[in-house]
Amino acid sequence: MKKIEIFSIKFDNLTMEEALEKIHGFVVLPYSEFIVRAQKDKEFKEILNRADFCLCESRGLYLVAKFVGKPLKSNICGVELITALNKKLKIKNLKLFLYGATANVVKRVADNFGETVIGFEHGYQEEAGVIDKINLLKPDVLLVGLGSPKQEEFIYRHLKDMPSVKLAIGVGGAFDFISGRIKRAPAPMQKAGLEWLWRFLLEPSRIKRIYTGVLGLIFLALKEKIKTRLAL
Ligand code: UDP
Repeated sequence: MKKIEIFSIKFDNLTMEEALEKIHGFVVLPYSEFIVRAQKDKEFKEILNRADFCLCESRGLYLVAKFVGKPLKSNICGVELITALNKKLKIKNLKLFLYGATANVVKRVADNFGETVIGFEHGYQEEAGVIDKINLLKPDVLLVGLGSPKQEEFIYRHLKDMPSVKLAIGVGGAFDFISGRIKRAPAPMQKAGLEWLWRFLLEPSRIKRIYTGVLGLIFLALKEKIKTRLAL
C-alpha cells in the first residue's frame, strides 16, 4: 500500500481495525516531537522511514496533516492499539513481552494484560540481558516503552537478534498510562488534539519537550502551507 509522506516521514494510512489486522515487523508510532526531531536528526528519520509500519499516533499530528492537505484516515492512539492487540493475542494464543518503564510500572501492565504476557523487564538496565531473556522466552510480540528515540533505535538494531519476535512496537509512555501512573486526558481534550496540554498540567517539568514538539510542528505546518500557496 502506498505511504503518505508528511514532513519527510512516510506514514501508513490505516484505521485502527486495519492496523490491528495488518501490522507486523517493526512498527513506529510518531507524534509531534518525532516529526520535529526527524527534521534535524537524519539517522532518526532513516529509522522511521525504514520501519515496516509508521502510524500517526497523536491527534495533533493528525489535525496538522489534514491542515497541510495530507489527510489520514485516523490517528492510532498507542494505548488503545496495544490494549486491543493484547485481546487479539489472547484469542490467538500468542505471547507478549513487555520491555520498558520502571519496574513497578511494567509489572502493573503485565498484571493488567494477563496471560498473554510471557515476560517483562524494566527499561533502566543493560539491553544485552533483556535480549537474552527475550530469546529464552520466545515471545511473538514485543512492546518497547523506552521513550523515543531509544526504543526505535533498539528495535531497529536488534529485531534481527530476536527471531521469535514477529511484531515489535515502540510504545513511548503507554505503559505509564496503562499502569495508571499517569491519567489520560479527558476525551474532549484528546479529540481536540490537546493531550499535550493535559500532559503539561500533570507534569510541568516536560515544558521544554512539549514546547519543542507543539510549536515545532505548528511552525513546520505553516511553512508547508505557505510553500504550497506560493506554488499555486
Ligand atoms: N524509559 C525507560 N528507560 C529509559 C528512559 C525512559 O524505560 O532509559 C521509559 C519511561 O519510564 C517511560 C517511557 O520510557 O515509561 C517514556 O518516556 P518519556 O515519558 O520520556 O517518553 P514519551 O512518553 O514522551 O515517549
